[in-house]
Amino acid sequence: MTIRDLHLFEGGARLQMNESIELTMQSLQAYGPAHEHWVVAWSGGKDSTATLTLIVWLINTGKIRAPKRLTVLYADTRQELPPLAIAAEAIMDELAERDIECRIVRAPLDKRFLVYILGRGVPPPNNNTLRWCTRQIKVDPMAAAIAESIGDGTALTITGVRQGESAIRDRRIEMSCGKDGAECGQGWYQQVLPESRSVRGRIATLAPLLHWRVCHVWEWLRHWAPREEFGGWSSELIADAYGGDEAEETNARTGCIACPLAQEEKALNSILAMPRWRHLAPLHELKPIYRWLREPAQRLRKSGIERLKDGSIGKNPQRMGPLTFEARLSALDQILDIQHRVNLGAIGNGWKGDVFELINAEEEARIRALIATETWPDGWNGDEPHADEWLPVTIYGNGAEQHDLFGLEEAS
Ligand code: SF4
Repeated sequence: MTIRDLHLFEGGARLQMNESIELTMQSLQAYGPAHEHWVVAWSGGKDSTATLTLIVWLINTGKIRAPKRLTVLYADTRQELPPLAIAAEAIMDELAERDIECRIVRAPLDKRFLVYILGRGVPPPNNNTLRWCTRQIKVDPMAAAIAESIGDGTALTITGVRQGESAIRDRRIEMSCGKDGAECGQGWYQQVLPESRSVRGRIATLAPLLHWRVCHVWEWLRHWAPREEFGGWSSELIADAYGGDEAEETNARTGCIACPLAQEEKALNSILAMPRWRHLAPLHELKPIYRWLREPAQRLRKSGIERLKDGSIGKNPQRMGPLTFEARLSALDQILDIQHRVNLGAIGNGWKGDVFELINAEEEARIRALIATETWPDGWNGDEPHADEWLPVTIYGNGAEQHDLFGLEEAS
């Protein structure tokens, strides 16, 4: 099979797979030669994995000119769905066999998703006011790893941002990764990363699959990339996680297990439909735990004047804040129990691979240590009232009082 032979969409105006690849080659040929060092910001999701495996294939087959140096940075959030984490491991082995430089990028221990929530007490992110996670567990570690990798030099950072044909039609790039079908973090790599202090002015970004439709991505990962002639990549599992034959309809968003910002867990549902992954079913219990943690009963609240770092008075005198120790310990127990049941189920399911660790021993020890040393986020000391206590009066900085007639209102 050659690029020219494949026509996925008969007779329509839809962009065909071969044209998609041609456009990708053109973008790499146009922008690649200006940079000696290319860095692929790879998160193990479908779009960035398609980008990575396609680029390596294009280089290996001489369809595009290789840069002097190619670095692959794998962003491991420790929150990946197990089949995706396993596929990423296999692809890293395949990169090593080709002598391609690949590094795993992780947030420092205290900044990891569950350590930050359960150890430091910061509530799980939400869609409104508290989306701290993408920058903290993906963008900042990636910026630091790129800075380390390029030293004093510059690089072209290649992302898996994808928008489908609208990218060509509209000639505008919308980087939201909160919408369905997007891969969380990739839009941030494209937009936020170049402005990060450690690499500002020293990296350009390119999204060579910007125009690809999700079904092309699935087709590449499921049917092309695994074939020897296209590289023999271990990418089928990733394709299956994103909806298999119904990838376009399913349009699963890629990101952490039980991402509190996603409405539905489409990727987890797709995986659970496969008998060999049935033991992951307890992971469906994570989302309700994250929701429970955000409720007032599990949190503290400010009781009056809040003086901010710059000396000004905070605007939300009763804003809800961090998680109580009881809530953190309860959630820790529940998550460890989920993990335990997944591993028990794995044994029953004949699983022979690694043990599943959403919270590993080092992270658990750190969470317990942070709780034992009574750690609170900046600006909180634990003396604040519980957020479900009724505070009838709010005292403002100017001395004015606000009587709360309507009950509690979340402010953070
Ligand atoms: S997938 Fe969800 S939880 Fe993970 S970094 Fe993205 S928005 Fe945050």
